Amino acid sequence: MVLGSTMAEARAKLVAGDTTAEALVGAALERISALEPSLNAVIATAPEASLALAREADSRIAKGKHTPVLGLPVALKDNLNWSGQPLTCGSKILEGYRAPYDATVVRRLLEAGAVPILKANMDEFAMGSSGEYSAFGPARNPWDPTRAPGGSSSGSIVSVAAGYAPLALGSDTGGSVRLPASFCNVTALRPTYGVLSRYGLTAMASSLDQVGPVARSAEDVAAAYSVMVGKDPLDSTSVDLPDHALLSPLLPANLKGLRIGLPKEYFGEGLAPGVRSVVETALDVFQEAGATLHPIALPTTDAAIEAYYILVTSEVSANLSRFDGVRYGLREAISGGLDAMISATRDAGFGDEAKRRILLGTFCLSKGHYEAYYLKALKARALVAQEFNRAFEAVDVIATPTSPTVAFPLGDRMSDPLAMYLADAYAVAAPLAGIPALAFPAGFHENLPVGMQVMGPALSDARLLAIAHAFQQRTDHHLRTPDL
Ligand code: GLN
Repeated sequence: MVLGSTMAEARAKLVAGDTTAEALVGAALERISALEPSLNAVIATAPEASLALAREADSRIAKGKHTPVLGLPVALKDNLNWSGQPLTCGSKILEGYRAPYDATVVRRLLEAGAVPILKANMDEFAMGSSGEYSAFGPARNPWDPTRAPGGSSSGSIVSVAAGYAPLALGSDTGGSVRLPASFCNVTALRPTYGVLSRYGLTAMASSLDQVGPVARSAEDVAAAYSVMVGKDPLDSTSVDLPDHALLSPLLPANLKGLRIGLPKEYFGEGLAPGVRSVVETALDVFQEAGATLHPIALPTTDAAIEAYYILVTSEVSANLSRFDGVRYGLREAISGGLDAMISATRDAGFGDEAKRRILLGTFCLSKGHYEAYYLKALKARALVAQEFNRAFEAVDVIATPTSPTVAFPLGDRMSDPLAMYLADAYAVAAPLAGIPALAFPAGFHENLPVGMQVMGPALSDARLLAIAHAFQQRTDHHLRTPDL
């Protein structure tokens, strides 16, 4: 596959008969072998299964069938079940485990003829902001391999940025597709909570987890999203996206009169000057197209990051209790009795960050601390949601930088978990409020990508994509690819 092909370009070649799905997958696998020694974005490939699926797609194409993803290679974050394939979640504790079924989003992509080609590297159980908490070693940023690609969906984002696949799925609990998208110059959507089924997505913090589609352009993200949306009886939190028919084909939004809110808390102290100026230039593009800019305030912003890490660690401590050496993957010390086996397995299987969160979360949920931490964080979460609802009475969408900085050097934040958590300062409020947020390329600072984020009211996903599409028709940042 030619580096830099968007989904739309690859699909046009398939439909015109200029290439085949089998050729695309073959080329993608070659590219992976050539680049993986430096990028480390991939945990597993399944060439036989992928090539068989590609041939099936080719026979559907030959019969004149069309879907937005038919015959296109897709990278799957390794916390998504793809039946029969390894599922590691970036952890040692799932060593040897294979997915017994397909996640709903994976099944819907397969039914539409997409071809999964790889399981992507990730921070262990999706906890992290840099990709460095993976048991398989960090993935590297294709724009500068000495830097982090961002996490936790590091491998999914690198797969798109490096041209392994024009489409990837990640997951976003508190920014895990948006932060790396901004570090690597790709477009990624965190949907409204419930729009994409979580069935078959390994739970990190269930009240926040969402699957996030990743591609080069908003148009491509929308096309993939259109195939996966829709209520799923297997996920009781799933909802329909009312205007899903607008996703494919995606028409650019009319920006005239669009009221864009700019929260001062996202443009204040802590925002790197280089990032600020790129985002301001991007905002000029919106303004020239007729949008109006409105300073607003979201005073709960600081509380959001604190509440987020209390809620997440609490839910993590509950969700990760199932990894006990009995049911999945790794089992240690089988001779010392059940308790000894469980504790030896968890000790050997989990990395430092997983252990840190299990401990913090267990503390926050414990009798005596529950009200001071967990319950208080729940109340803060409600306030964050209320504040966004009020803001959307005065503006249509809210625009911010996706991250306060460009990609940071690998190793930079490893000794300081708090600094790592603060990378998510602009990302966690939307998940707490349950609203959609879209990250897309805004430009470059010293040859490193800078991302911009738009957030909208619940179920405005199609509108956010259309707004980014309008921006991408006026700019070409999203078309720039790294020199590899
Ligand atoms: N970086 C955040 C965290 O570590 C977000 C993770 C995610 O979205 N999966 O919790």
